[in-house]
Amino acid sequence: LNAALINIGNELLSGVTVNTNASWLGEQLLEIGHPVKRIHVIGDTQKEILNALNNLWSDFSIILITGGLGPTHDDITIGAMAEFFTTELVFHQPTFDALKERLESRDIPISERHKAQAMLPANAEVLGNMAGTAPALHFQEGDKHVYCLPGVPHEMRHLMREQVMPQLNQLGSGKYKKLLLRTIGYPESKLYDTVRDIIEPLPEQAVAFLPQIYGVDIRLLDNETSDKTEIVKALAEIHSRLGNAIFAEEDIPLSQVVGNLLREQQKTLATAESCTGGLLGDMLTDVSGSSEYYLQGFITYSNAAKTHELDVPEELIVRHGAVSEEVAKAMVQGAMRKTGAQTAISTTGIAGPTGGTADKPVGLVYIGCSVDDKVQVKRYQFTDDRRLNKQRTVYAALNMLRLELLAN
Ligand code: ATP
Ligand code: MG
Repeated sequence: LNAALINIGNELLSGVTVNTNASWLGEQLLEIGHPVKRIHVIGDTQKEILNALNNLWSDFSIILITGGLGPTHDDITIGAMAEFFTTELVFHQPTFDALKERLESRDIPISERHKAQAMLPANAEVLGNMAGTAPALHFQEGDKHVYCLPGVPHEMRHLMREQVMPQLNQLGSGKYKKLLLRTIGYPESKLYDTVRDIIEPLPEQAVAFLPQIYGVDIRLLDNETSDKTEIVKALAEIHSRLGNAIFAEEDIPLSQVVGNLLREQQKTLATAESCTGGLLGDMLTDVSGSSEYYLQGFITYSNAAKTHELDVPEELIVRHGAVSEEVAKAMVQGAMRKTGAQTAISTTGIAGPTGGTADKPVGLVYIGCSVDDKVQVKRYQFTDDRRLNKQRTVYAALNMLRLELLAN
């Protein structure tokens, strides 16, 4: 079925709050076979809510509303729902009990105002108000379903997962299976050209190219078509063409893929970072269990630190400059020697936007990678955006190590 969203909140219109609820819900609903086809983002007025509902009512069987469920003056969703469904508000004991318990545990006295919070539309199904959050409300008329969810993102997600998704899973024609291929090393246009003939015959919306900082994610959905094997076949074909450019087939980061390889091969890792300033170590240690293989990171930003911490010869830096193939190589070798790790990666570059010269422009980066006795250095030319350069350097470094470990 098709779904529509109404996101309520003046702060969404003024730009103070980013409408993350819409993107999260869009993704979730797509996966369970109810793609979002229209979104209304509106201010906190009953009139706007009624307008939006009237607009959507005839076209959609599933309408999800977020925001305006709380106890403050701007929370007008419940009143609007009662008006839309021409029903009254009635006292809902379980909601009051949950609220009371929460207030008592915090030593807050109960007032009339709190009682008013338990007044809910008579025709609503009240879904879960554990954890002391506002409940979700479900309204059904014929085959039409309207859900009201809190605006606070973590409360909304919790209620979706626990209460609403199980119901939505029962509606309609079944689930989409989402297949994901994460790629690195191909620019988007080259990637598209490489697999174009596989993708073009597939139904529209079955394939999405999602550019990321590290590369491009290819997402396939296997339910837009009657022939499910078609997508599976396409997937296998894309796989054989892209080979090692695909680093994951699920929602996991590159650092985790590298970590898995290190663990499988029982190798340890050290990092020697200059231009990335610790970002490489940060990403590696975002992975749970990384202490099994990640031994140490050196952040050697100054020339003196490179010499002192990693034994990079001073004259090497003087002769070739800190941003050079020779220094990147000496850095990985130093990191391995100092730590005893079997693998190491190093980064040295000009992150920008200042500091470039004619022969060493902003965005020039050398990455060193060593696995056992084999050392290699690659030269990259990135952009003039400092943050992006750091991120791209980290991904390129992780990918170098990944490819080396795969070749091992
Ligand atoms: P509360 O009980 O906290 O009042 P509520 O259901 O009334 O919850 P709102 O008052 O509309 O929700 O929003 C509460 C907060 O949740 C907002 O200040 C905002 O930070 C966040 N929020 C609301 N809607 C969204 C949204 N669509 N995307 C992201 N954040 C949102
Ligand atoms: Mg509120």
